[in-house]
Amino acid sequence: MSAVPLARAATRSAAPRLLVDPEAVAANTRVLAARVTPGAPGAPGGTALMAVVKADGFGLGAATVARAALAHGATSLGVTTVAEGLALRAEGIDVPVLSWLNGVDADFAGALAAGLDLAVPSTEHLGAITRAASPGRPARVHLHLDTGLARDGAEPSGWATLCRAARTAERAGLVQVVGVMGHLALADEPGHPANAVGRTRFAWGVQVARACGLRPALRHLAATAATLTDPQSHHTLVRVGAGLVGIDPSGTTALRPAVTLSAPVVQVRRVRAGTPVGYGHTWTAARATTLALLPVGYADGLPRAASGRASVLLRGQRRPVVGRVSMDQVVLDLGDDAVALGDTATVLGPGDAGEPTPAEWATWSGTLPHEVLTGFGPRPDRVVATTVLRSVR
Ligand SMILES: *Cc1c(COP(=O)(O)O)cnc(C)c1O
Repeated sequence: MSAVPLARAATRSAAPRLLVDPEAVAANTRVLAARVTPGAPGAPGGTALMAVVKADGFGLGAATVARAALAHGATSLGVTTVAEGLALRAEGIDVPVLSWLNGVDADFAGALAAGLDLAVPSTEHLGAITRAASPGRPARVHLHLDTGLARDGAEPSGWATLCRAARTAERAGLVQVVGVMGHLALADEPGHPANAVGRTRFAWGVQVARACGLRPALRHLAATAATLTDPQSHHTLVRVGAGLVGIDPSGTTALRPAVTLSAPVVQVRRVRAGTPVGYGHTWTAARATTLALLPVGYADGLPRAASGRASVLLRGQRRPVVGRVSMDQVVLDLGDDAVALGDTATVLGPGDAGEPTPAEWATWSGTLPHEVLTGFGPRPDRVVATTVLRSVR
């Protein structure tokens, strides 16, 4: 059997198109799931997989990424805000969903009505959540310990206080502490000593929680990089986001980018030697050449910082992007090669045909593939690939 991605919907030919490939998400999920000891969430000895679909599934569509991951090994979902969690519920997704980044004035009542799990980074948040809960319908919470980023999560100095307050609320029937979570700052550098510090702090945090009488079955520290490289960090649950969409921050594992951005040629011109191109005239044709215009720019997610370095695939070859990346358009230098209006350039994709990957765009612009994917603007047509399974008998 082989899978052939097809566009589900007819698209406007003049618009850039973002083709999201759930088969790639499925394959990546299987790779990630194979790195952990299988187990039901919270089961002794097993590690479950949470699919992190924050920021609209890293720009590819939260529900699309979630469904593909859940069908191939993930058993729960993670998001930042309550609003993101409610959006998944509105899509009819009814697996456990954890929301971990909210203000104290977030819609916790709505979150609890929708059955979302909530992370608790402070006693203030705990207070707000218990006020939204009612006895007999406790909020499912994950206490969040800062294990080394000084970012989200409770400071270690306040951890015991938070655990005691959570235990009190649990006895009152207002919360159920189902989890303890941490996060690693340098998991993409597997040997870095900060990872051992983070793991030790996390183990201490779990111990303190237990000493307070809490019994958190879901203990989670690892994201994609640690899932791939650091089994000691796995505990009973790992939270993977980037890996699902084909980003491996650890540089150890072949994952498949789950998106292809393409754009049609909308203008072609022949120019004389000495013709400057684009804002700032940063590039000038050294000889007579053919230029092709694509209607895709930094508003669509192409980093402007890649100007002067980027290239895209058109008619089977890499073509340099010349001059600056504008908000809405880029110019390609074709030399003396033929090109026709309506030819499609592959701007970014899994790399199968030689097109640049999100990682390559990230290198050109001094950023991460995460930022490239989450930077896609509203303008491209978003299309979800469907697959046609063909027998190869
Ligand atoms: C984004 C995020 C994750 C997922 O990280 P990846 O590296 O994308 O797998 C996990 N946990 C927290 C707290 C996050 O913010």
